[in-house]
Amino acid sequence: MQILKEKQSLKEQIQAYKNDGLSIGFVPTMGALHQGHISLIQKALSLCDKVVVSIFVNPTQFDNPEDLEKYPRDLEKDVDRIKKISDQVIVFSPAANEIYGSNVTSEEFSFDGLEHQMEGKFRKGHFNGVGTIVKKLFEMVQPDKAFFGEKDYQQLQIIKKLVEKHHLPVEVIGCPIDREISGLARSSRNERLTTEQRQNAAAIYKVLQQVKEDFGTKSASELIDWVRDRFRSESSLELEYFEIANADTLRPVEEKKEGEKYRAFIAAYSGDIRLIDNIALN
Ligand code: AMP
Repeated sequence: MQILKEKQSLKEQIQAYKNDGLSIGFVPTMGALHQGHISLIQKALSLCDKVVVSIFVNPTQFDNPEDLEKYPRDLEKDVDRIKKISDQVIVFSPAANEIYGSNVTSEEFSFDGLEHQMEGKFRKGHFNGVGTIVKKLFEMVQPDKAFFGEKDYQQLQIIKKLVEKHHLPVEVIGCPIDREISGLARSSRNERLTTEQRQNAAAIYKVLQQVKEDFGTKSASELIDWVRDRFRSESSLELEYFEIANADTLRPVEEKKEGEKYRAFIAAYSGDIRLIDNIALN
């Protein structure tokens, strides 16, 4: 399995694959790989000849320096995990200066309003950072297909918008959320939870499942009140936001209508660890 750190060697390898007529799948990650990431890599392997997995903790998408500093990093462990499933994967793990040089800043994007909802309200500049790194990586990897998890559903919608607006020649494929047995959505940040916090965090998915059952008979504002109360009684979790939104525009909605697609979204803190999750309501 190849592990590349320089964009020049990546470029040469990609060119060789393209010359051989091989299709390229791409899975961008920040490492600390878990089964959720592996499910994306497996999907990519099933649809493409070669798969590039980038492992890069992108500084420009963090609005909180402590979160960036504490983000788990273990390249050797990540590589071992990937080796267990395939030798057709190329790991691209550059240093920050290989990507940004001395200019560690974001480009400014408009994603037609998607960026102002939910995560955009609470993580200033986050989606400019995401757009910047994904656009740079797409230019380097030149993938035919790129795979993103519905775990970060707003990010997935934003990447689709990035591709549409910048006419990038890549197909974006959304992949389902992989969960721990308790229902907690897998996340690299879960590693930082204590055993007790991890057990309690399963409440997030339970709340989402209840909302799925009730939306239609109850309105969004009734459910918002219910979720707020529910979190008040969960001493180890602090709700940051809960929203029910149109699944395409991500704008908040009040009532369920026939023929529309909806999703519910939660961000909550367990101690200083921020967790997000979402569920389709149709
Ligand atoms: P990250 O390393 O957190 O930036 O995630 C890299 C990719 O893996 C993103 O497209 C995420 O949405 C996706 N991902 C992370 N966790 C999960 C999960 N539990 N299930 C499915 N995809 C996930």
